[in-house]
Amino acid sequence: MEITANNPNRKSWLTVDVDSDFPIQNIPFGVFLTKDDIITIGTRIGDYAIDLGALHQLGYFEGIPLTDDIFLQDTLNDFIADGRKTWRLVRNRIADIFDAENHKLRDNSAHKDKVIFTMTEIEMQLPVNVGDYTDFYASKEHATNVGSLFRDPENALLPNWLHIPIGYHGRSSSIIPSGTPVRRPIGQSRPAEGTNKPGFGPSKLLDFELEMAFITTVANDLGDRIPIEEAEDYIFGLVLFNDWSARDIQGWEYVPLGPFLGKNFASTISPWIVTLDALEPFRVDNPKQVHEPLPYLKKEGKDSYDINLQVAIKPEESKETVVCNSNFKYMYWTMVQQLAHHTVNGCPVNAGDMMGSGTISGPTKDSYGSMLELSWKGQNPLKLNDGSERKFINDNDTVILRGYAKNNEVRIGFGECTGKVLPAVE
Ligand code: MN
Repeated sequence: MEITANNPNRKSWLTVDVDSDFPIQNIPFGVFLTKDDIITIGTRIGDYAIDLGALHQLGYFEGIPLTDDIFLQDTLNDFIADGRKTWRLVRNRIADIFDAENHKLRDNSAHKDKVIFTMTEIEMQLPVNVGDYTDFYASKEHATNVGSLFRDPENALLPNWLHIPIGYHGRSSSIIPSGTPVRRPIGQSRPAEGTNKPGFGPSKLLDFELEMAFITTVANDLGDRIPIEEAEDYIFGLVLFNDWSARDIQGWEYVPLGPFLGKNFASTISPWIVTLDALEPFRVDNPKQVHEPLPYLKKEGKDSYDINLQVAIKPEESKETVVCNSNFKYMYWTMVQQLAHHTVNGCPVNAGDMMGSGTISGPTKDSYGSMLELSWKGQNPLKLNDGSERKFINDNDTVILRGYAKNNEVRIGFGECTGKVLPAVE
């Protein structure tokens, strides 16, 4: 089925700024509270939030097989479970409804009052009920940097890394939407030199991780696996993902089982899920891999996406400073490799599961996706525009992730993924 929603020549009768992340070619999906405190599934064009529940009740999705209440829900899980064909039909229809050539809704003010809100009138919620959350470790530069800093620069990349998309199972209970404050975590840290008593208290090395996460639909039964050629059909879309990390807690706890309390206190996501369909024009060649992958991980083609990524730090009383510019295309393992690997043992994947990419670091020092790497574990503090310095994240700092894909015709963005760090409560 053609993705007519992606037509770059299409214009909307809604006003959209030229540099908006949300032109009519984007049509992301999210969940919001209206000014009347009603929760609904919606999309966004420019700075307008569109109530899909109201559109459906008014008959605008006629002819598309949808249950009556599919958009009158507080999560996208059921809609995602409907599958790729339905996502395409709905995106294509939304594009038609808001197309500058189509006057049906444009000229019906009673309907418009029910359907269209300004972004300031609504409050974004978590878009999915995340059943399971997995975080990968798929940037070679990041894994090499962290291996050098935490272990041994000579053997930074462990021998398995080039053969397996490494990952771990995280906690879905602490995944929060952009704008939710993050409390500095408390925990144990490595004993000070010459002592054998662990430290305990608020984390001193609080960090962000610049990641993206993909959201899946229901994919396989227990015991079955997803062949890599089919994996893409089960990916609904992507969000920006800040996998907040307490490096001192992590450094003491992570051997032998990996991340635990240093990671599971909070992960912030951007609230609009940008579909893989909308990102179709931004496919780029897969990275060249050092070893030929095993057959179940082998796939030629363009499964990587050119998405510009940025991180800024904003101290409470001053302007932000951009500290990192990276790109999603730097990932060594692609999403389809990750999903094929995740299910090769028969582990079932469900609608609304979230798969973090791992920190996305690029080849240059200004493209590293965490303070751990940017400040090289505190050895090279970063200078902010207000003259202050950061080795890690201070209380009352806001960390802002941004992402967009752009070509000569269209710009598809994710909006912002922000979180302000609040002091620990001891
Ligand atoms: Mn991570």
